[in-house]
Amino acid sequence: MAADIQAPPLREYPTIPVIVENTMADSKPYMATPAHQESLGYPGELVDNWQDVAVKKLGELVSGSRALQVFLDTCVKCGACTDKCHYYLGTQDPNNMPVARQDLLRKVYRRYYTFAGKHFPKLVGAVDFDEEVRDQWYSYFHQCSQCRRCSVFCPYGIDTAEISMAGREILDVIGVGQKYCNEILGKVHVIGNNLGLPEPALVNTLEGLEEDIKDDTGVDVRVPVDEKNADVLLITPSADFFAEPHIDGLIGYAKVFHQAGISWTLSSYASEAANFSMFIGSKDNLKKVAMRIRDAALDLGVKRIVVGECGHAWRVAYNFWNTLIGPFDFLDPRYPAPQHICEVTYDLIQRGALRLNKEANDHRRITFHDSCNVARASRMGNMPGGQFLIPREIIKACANHFHDMSPETIHENTFCCGGGGGLLTDDLMKLRVRGALPRMEALAQVVQDNDVNTLIAICAICKTQFAKVLPYYKFQMDMITSLHQIVGDAIELDTTH
Ligand code: SF4
Ligand code: SF4
Repeated sequence: MAADIQAPPLREYPTIPVIVENTMADSKPYMATPAHQESLGYPGELVDNWQDVAVKKLGELVSGSRALQVFLDTCVKCGACTDKCHYYLGTQDPNNMPVARQDLLRKVYRRYYTFAGKHFPKLVGAVDFDEEVRDQWYSYFHQCSQCRRCSVFCPYGIDTAEISMAGREILDVIGVGQKYCNEILGKVHVIGNNLGLPEPALVNTLEGLEEDIKDDTGVDVRVPVDEKNADVLLITPSADFFAEPHIDGLIGYAKVFHQAGISWTLSSYASEAANFSMFIGSKDNLKKVAMRIRDAALDLGVKRIVVGECGHAWRVAYNFWNTLIGPFDFLDPRYPAPQHICEVTYDLIQRGALRLNKEANDHRRITFHDSCNVARASRMGNMPGGQFLIPREIIKACANHFHDMSPETIHENTFCCGGGGGLLTDDLMKLRVRGALPRMEALAQVVQDNDVNTLIAICAICKTQFAKVLPYYKFQMDMITSLHQIVGDAIELDTTH
């Protein structure tokens, strides 16, 4: 833990904090280097005519997205969103109120693209895009995890996530991108995953994992890669290959496929589910990264595509893949769209195809964190709310002790872990710790009421973020657990169906 970063005190009854101006004005992620920028097709450094380029790009984005235009035109300043952002609740900085974050872009839009803003800027709060505004954009559009919680409470459904994506894209095209996202995307383009893990290292890691599973269970469970004509191509976040607790989730997927008798494979070419292009609002990069998955599926001749535990990757797969890289007419017609690993496991449980021993998880008292991109930007199964029900039903099938957190902090009201949306970088640690406050308060309550010792998530970013911030709030780092870890622990491997 960084000694100079203090977590705010947990409160028993969360209250709306008083405003403290500019507490986070100095929070800025490292800037992308020229190499990071240019590998994504952006200028390497701030271009000379950056104001003109930014204003032009803003116009293009607004004219190309009816939604963005509506979001910029319709806010009535009702204030319903002001206390809904975890970053405002954790930092007290008024620029982290969603409406204020939107206004950073809205006031520039008004200045250049509305009659009143062009002729009477002061009357309508319109401002030039100058150096001070550019600096505020860089700071506060990198204090939005694009979680969309504010949009749930806005009477007009204004989605601040879309506005921060647009703001970041404009910053990229004028040459001031963010290092963390852009460097990672460059690695995916060249090597195929966020980690820059080359094929031999991946193969080696997976072989080691098979040996570990054999040592633990005495059973040969495969973790295959690049196997042609497997039924399933599993696209999973590369953190699943080595990070804790992610890797235990990968072991769980392998045990599920093993016991269900489903042939599957990973791909060394498309060895990443994450697609950080969404965080920077880049449609070109979104498509380019996603295309690796279509190419891998065709090359390997698989019949189904299944996505592992990753929140924003599931949003991209669920919402955008068909437009970006579809149609998937080469897949088995029974599985014409990508499936979430939770859908696969839930279906197998429903059909009695997994032999589960719930007592194997009796040492766990479990709660579940709904990840934002799953909860508010996608769904699972064929029923409304499936994204809430399916993970919980899997937990209940695999363990005897489950307790939800307070209703106002789960399902579509869930609080972000504090590290989503391309903010999972150590240079934003102060923001990440403070932004985790509302989730930590809800966790503290369920721990106090029910002796919970296990926090389950189905998102690689949430898992990494919690592993890092839990100790700041005096929780054990290892209470964060992959959903498919408890599935894997409950599966009785010696009996196959
Ligand atoms: S999308 Fe999430 S992080 Fe961004 S302003 Fe809204 S509540 Fe805050
Ligand atoms: S809730 Fe919606 S309309 Fe109200 S201030 Fe926030 S963004 Fe504007």
